[in-house]
Amino acid sequence: MTVSPLRLRLDAAALVGNWRALDAMSGAAACGAAVKADGYGLGAPGVAERLRDAGCRDFFVATWAEAGELAGLGAPVSVLHGVRAEDMAGERPGNARPVLSSAAQVLRWRETGAPCDVMIDTGMNRLGLSVQDVADGLLDGLAIETLMSHLACADEDVPLNARQRDALAGLKGRTSAKRLSLANSAGIALGPDYAFDLTRPGISLYGGVQVAAFAGRIRQVVTPEAQILQRRRVRAGETIGYSATFTAAADMEVAILNIGYADGYLRCFSGIGTAHMGGMTLPVLGRVSMDLVAVGVDAAPGLAEGDWVSLDYDLPATSALSGLSQYELLTGLGQRFDRVWG
Ligand SMILES: *Cc1c(COP(=O)(O)O)cnc(C)c1O
Repeated sequence: MTVSPLRLRLDAAALVGNWRALDAMSGAAACGAAVKADGYGLGAPGVAERLRDAGCRDFFVATWAEAGELAGLGAPVSVLHGVRAEDMAGERPGNARPVLSSAAQVLRWRETGAPCDVMIDTGMNRLGLSVQDVADGLLDGLAIETLMSHLACADEDVPLNARQRDALAGLKGRTSAKRLSLANSAGIALGPDYAFDLTRPGISLYGGVQVAAFAGRIRQVVTPEAQILQRRRVRAGETIGYSATFTAAADMEVAILNIGYADGYLRCFSGIGTAHMGGMTLPVLGRVSMDLVAVGVDAAPGLAEGDWVSLDYDLPATSALSGLSQYELLTGLGQRFDRVWG
């Protein structure tokens, strides 16, 4: 196997610590894990195995292909997009069950007699059956493990949160469901009456901090690292990179790193981003290219071609800088990284 010149350093202790913190904040409710979109870009099997070993028993993916990646997990996986006609004909791992969200899906699944979850729409108007559908008996005869809904504005203090909570609470005992579930990461911070029986954090497992309650409790998990392709001397008055946006004020030492915006190291870091090596801070100089970025290494005389540096990738700060959500910052990290757990 070839070793990539760029890698994502994934902090297993931080991932597990974040899950434990969210589990504790979930009170008596169980704490699951959303591992859709390949574990938010970290690699779903690597994430799920570590959380399973820590005690997590409920995993959430979007599609059956994603469930297939976790067929050997030995813990239940819920498929949030439910079950299409194509999925009924395809391979469905024994540890996976659909989260049914339309009348057609219910009809399709009822014949199997197998357990399922059900999504109820309580105000987001994304996926889910209505409260009225439940009253009309649409779910009668289904073996439901978890009846769930999803918060539209969990990271905001708005009346819709309580309305959604109350709508789900009103369904308690009205179906065969063994458990109710509502809260995503930010929903956990809304308090104990949002936890129900099972919480479903995603982004905060991976270091996302969207609400004040998580500051200091949730740790960074993902750090991009890149290898130095070339070290060069730039003379006073010369420029670096596309559009020549950086001009050297004096002779300086520069390292060219094997990472760029095609890897998710965004152009907004041009002239602003920083890298680290040991205790030294290395400033990004000029534009970030598709596959390359220049950093100043005057502070690091020993750094040479082939050495590795870490790129600063604080999720809240990068979100503010880029205008992108913390979710996009993780799922946008590209396929050229080796994902390395440590
Ligand atoms: C993605 C997702 C989650 C996790 O949400 P985060 O905001 O990442 O914590 C939970 N439930 C459902 C239905 C989801 O789609």
